Amino acid sequence: MQADAADLGLTIYISSGFRSYDYQAGLYQRYVERDGKEAADRYSARPGYSEHQSGLAFDLNTITDDFKDTDEGRWVAENCYKYGFIIRYPADKEDVTGYMYEPWHIRYLGTEIAEDVYSSGLCLEEYLGITSEYAE
Ligand SMILES: [Zn+2]
Repeated sequence: MQADAADLGLTIYISSGFRSYDYQAGLYQRYVERDGKEAADRYSARPGYSEHQSGLAFDLNTITDDFKDTDEGRWVAENCYKYGFIIRYPADKEDVTGYMYEPWHIRYLGTEIAEDVYSSGLCLEEYLGITSEYAE
C-alpha cells in the first residue's frame, strides 16, 4: 500500500502501530488525567481494549483531523480496503463505535472482508452485529 501510494507521489508512514498493554495503560492514564475519563474514552481505548494491542491497527501520518483533507488521507480512505484495511472509526458513527472520527486509524481485516465492509457503508460493529461498549 505504501509502495502504490508512493508511485502516485504520496507519502504514507506509520505513526503508531503495535502497542503493548503497558504502553496503552500509560497512554490512556495520561489522557484521563488530562481530559477526564469520559472524554478520553471517546478517542483512546482502555488498556486491554485497544486494536493497537492486536497488531492489526495502524495510525497513519499526522494523527489529526486534518489528515482527511490531505491527498494521502483521501487516497487512504478510498483505497485502503484494496489492501485489506478499513477506516475503523468513520465519521458519523461515533454513537455506534464509541469513537470520534479517526481518518488516520486503519484496521486490517483481509481484502475480502475489508472490501465487503467498505462497500456496505457500515462500520465494523454494524457489519458484525456487535457492540463495542465497555461492560463497566
Ligand atoms: Zn489508532
